[in-house]
Amino acid sequence: MTLPSAPELRVDLDALAANFAALQRRAGAAEVAPVLKADAYGLGQGPVARRLWHEGARRFFVARRSEGEALRSDLGPRTAEIFILDGYLGDGPALRAAALTPVINTQEQIAAWRASAPAQDHPSPFALQVDTGLNRLGLTVAEALSLAETPEARDCQLVLSHLACADTPDHPLNARQARALAALRPAFPKARFSLAASSGIFLGDDFRFDMVRPGVALFGVGPFETPHPEIRPVARLTAPVLQIRHVAEGDTIGYGAGFIAPHALKIALVGAGYADGVLRSSGANGYGFVGGERRPFVGRVSMDILALDVTGLSDVHPGDCVELFGDHLRLEDVARAANTISYEILSRIAPRVTRTYLGDDGDGRP
Ligand SMILES: *Cc1c(COP(=O)(O)O)cnc(C)c1O
Repeated sequence: MTLPSAPELRVDLDALAANFAALQRRAGAAEVAPVLKADAYGLGQGPVARRLWHEGARRFFVARRSEGEALRSDLGPRTAEIFILDGYLGDGPALRAAALTPVINTQEQIAAWRASAPAQDHPSPFALQVDTGLNRLGLTVAEALSLAETPEARDCQLVLSHLACADTPDHPLNARQARALAALRPAFPKARFSLAASSGIFLGDDFRFDMVRPGVALFGVGPFETPHPEIRPVARLTAPVLQIRHVAEGDTIGYGAGFIAPHALKIALVGAGYADGVLRSSGANGYGFVGGERRPFVGRVSMDILALDVTGLSDVHPGDCVELFGDHLRLEDVARAANTISYEILSRIAPRVTRTYLGDDGDGRP
């Protein structure tokens, strides 16, 4: 086996497939439509999308048109519907060229989307986002009701809304949002409805509607940012030990000399830093797994290097592999220690980190 020489993000496509199946079981009759924005949360859109298609996914969401175009080319001849969450931004010809479906977020966007059709009777299918309490994108409930009375509503295939507090199961806003969306059903009798993202799938039957839109749970993060027996870790970030050093009591470690060794320490310098996506702000609370143990960061995270306290571990050497999250260190816990959420940890993994894939993408290739 060759030793890892640089940080590596290993993506387990079989675990991804298992998570898709687990979410499908939870979703019952609702369709599971994966959300692959931000390069599939940093895991790499192509292999992830192809494997999910192989597992049966036929509708996908991304944030931007450029992501939709990339996904269309990643999927090649496979037929799939791709929704663009950011809305319709006057890019009609480009959307139509790549067969992308906008998620319409304002009344003006509908007219503009229809006006971009090559002929008047040309279909302009769209999804409609209705804001039921997040106060992010989407029409108000009142705007949606008045739109429902117009001929434009005919092309509305999907009505979706997004939960503000899905990761807080007992927050009263959750049920209020579900009721508000359900109340729109009679106004859009031909459209399908969707509310839940990852955590929402675990909130119960009232949240599943016709389609669920998981992102982070597919990628190994349990509902409510807590490890869950049905969700397997998918991503593992590792980096090599570059050098071992011994420092004396009172020595300082790293930039700013902010860390002072309380006693003699053995330090592993690890080849990963904030330019790889290891948050500098995780500083004193970060940790890595090496030599069978979880060990804390010491001193500041620098651009390419961080230091781990490996005092007492005789079996740690240059070239050894340090896990920064994965099977031993759950992403949810690493995120909490860094005072953030798993979404940010994953989506910040830098392009210079090599992605490798375990299992295949459904076409027999990684
Ligand atoms: C990002 C996003 C999702 C997926 O959210 P997860 O919590 O990662 O499952 C679903 N719907 C919308 C509108 C989103 O922006």
